[in-house]
Parts: sequence; C-alpha cells; structure tokens
Amino acid sequence: MTNNNTYFVANWKMYGNSSSIKHIAKVISISKINKYKKVRIIYCPPYTLLEQFVKKTKKTNISIGAQNCHYEAGYGAFTGFVSTKMIKNSGCKFVIIGHSETRKEGDTDKKINMKIKSALDSKLKVIFCIGESYKDKKNKKTNLVLNNQIKNGLNKIKNLKNVLIAYEPVWSIGTGIIPKISNLNSQVKKIKKFINSKFKNKNVKVLYGGSVSSKNIKSLSRIKEIDGFLIGGASQNQNKFIDIIKKSIN
Ligand code: PEP
Repeated sequence: MTNNNTYFVANWKMYGNSSSIKHIAKVISISKINKYKKVRIIYCPPYTLLEQFVKKTKKTNISIGAQNCHYEAGYGAFTGFVSTKMIKNSGCKFVIIGHSETRKEGDTDKKINMKIKSALDSKLKVIFCIGESYKDKKNKKTNLVLNNQIKNGLNKIKNLKNVLIAYEPVWSIGTGIIPKISNLNSQVKKIKKFINSKFKNKNVKVLYGGSVSSKNIKSLSRIKEIDGFLIGGASQNQNKFIDIIKKSIN
C-alpha cells in the first residue's frame, strides 16, 4: 500500500440485526478525523440492514454495499432475490460479486459475469472476488484458476473503471491463516499484470481478503501491491475494525 487512499471493505456476511447500527458509531467518528478522511470504508451488511446503514452514513465518507445480487437488472419473478437496480435504489454504491461463499451456493463464472454486467449497468461499483482453493494451491493451479476466474468473470466488459478486484484465497477465509507476505505481493502483481494484458487496464485496484486481523494488519499493510482489504470476521467488531484501519494508515 502506498498511500492513505486505501479501501477497507467490511463484509458482515449473514450477521447483524436491527440494533447492529450502533456498532458502527465509532467507525463513523473515526472516518471524520482528518487523517482518515481519504480512507475508503465500505460497509456491506445483509440486505435487511442496507437502507438503515445508508441513512446512518449519509454525509460521511463511508459507502454501503450489498453482498450479492441477481443478474437480472430490473424487476421480475425471481423469488428470494434482489436486483442491482433495487440495490442501487436503496442508496448503495457497491456490490460484492463472486465471493467464495456465494460461489459455493451456485455462483458460476457465467452467472458472475452476468451479475457484474448488471451491476455496472445499474451504476454500482463492483467488488469482484477471486481466489483459489487449498486443493488448487496444492496442485500448483493458483494462476490458472485465478486467470480463468478473471477472464470469465470479466468477459466482454470493456471498462473496468468501476471494478475492484478482491483477491481472497479460499483457504485463508475465516481460518486465521494468511499467505506469506512475499508470496502475496507477487501474486497480486501477477493478477494486475494479467488484467493489464487482457483488458489493457493498468490501474485496477486489488484488495486482499482472508483472515485480516489487528494482529497481522501491520505486515499486510506494508505489501506494496495491495490497495486495500476485504474484512469479514474482524469487521463486525468496531474496535477491531478501527484498530485495523489505524494500524494500516501512517
Ligand atoms: C470474507 O468474508 O471475505 C473474509 C475475508 O472473511 P474473514 O476476514 O473472516 O476471513
């Protein structure tokens, strides 16, 4: 990371209820301090809390995002789903697409590609998750898997201005295990290089996700190629989340 213009995405997964909003009050206060004004904090609570979070963070530099979406952009007979138009209408600016936990529930590369197109059409910014499994890593297939996820997920998308990549090794999510710092730097570099070769984009931001905590953030934040973090577990406790932000920013 080279500046304070860093992303901290809080993925609350399937946690939170109507009283959770009080658990972001301290983060809102921190975000108003000069030193942290450029930090890009994005909260992604469950759908049920989106509007409440949008309302609470109005007039702050914190943005709100959804954790998933349907690929159908508008309205329709899709029981149980939420479209990108509806997410946009709720005041969100971002949506996470392709998280390994939604891939496990049936998200294919093709569906992910359709979701990304739908989100961009709805003027949402996309946090596009990619990551290899432990088996892929063991079989030395990491680059092949990541490149395929990128190529297929971004198929026929010309403008990546509103796409952030979140590199999340599946074996690192929720396990407390993080990649070796030197490996992580070169992996993110390879991701950026591949995106540049395929999509002629040198400026795409790549975040890291997987067991980010207040204990490992100091070393993670020194990694040059990383532009921010996607944080699951540790983002649900505002003291831990603030600690992570403070320790990453000089
Ligand atoms: C995630 O939810 O994408 C994630 C990285 O979770 P955790 O930080 O808990 O590993």
